[in-house]
Amino acid sequence: MSFLKKLFGGRATTPSSSTGNTQPNDPTGLYLFARCAHCGTVVRVRADKQNDLNHDGGGYVWHKTIVDSKCFRRMTAVVSFDRDFNVTTSDLQGGEFVSAADYDQYNEQIALSKAQTAGDE
Ligand SMILES: [Zn+2]
Repeated sequence: MSFLKKLFGGRATTPSSSTGNTQPNDPTGLYLFARCAHCGTVVRVRADKQNDLNHDGGGYVWHKTIVDSKCFRRMTAVVSFDRDFNVTTSDLQGGEFVSAADYDQYNEQIALSKAQTAGDE
């Protein structure tokens, strides 16, 4: 009798996405990339369409305090989206928004500098 097993044992787990790290398969997530003006760290920030955005006229507005993992300075983001979740205006105090490509490039540089440091020691 595997009836109960089917009921309780067959729950689907979250699928592991193979779309890369920059834009995960995440239908309610919006991803933005912020570079700290002080230390240059680029951080990826997720905004949840359902929980993080406030309705604002015909679109949405998102308020977020971003803290990078290097100098821990606060960056204050205010981003407006239209109803299709396209960014219409963005403002970041203490940093600037960059592209996903910039984020990838930043991570490559980090990996390279780590490899070089390991070689010197
Ligand atoms: Zn910083």
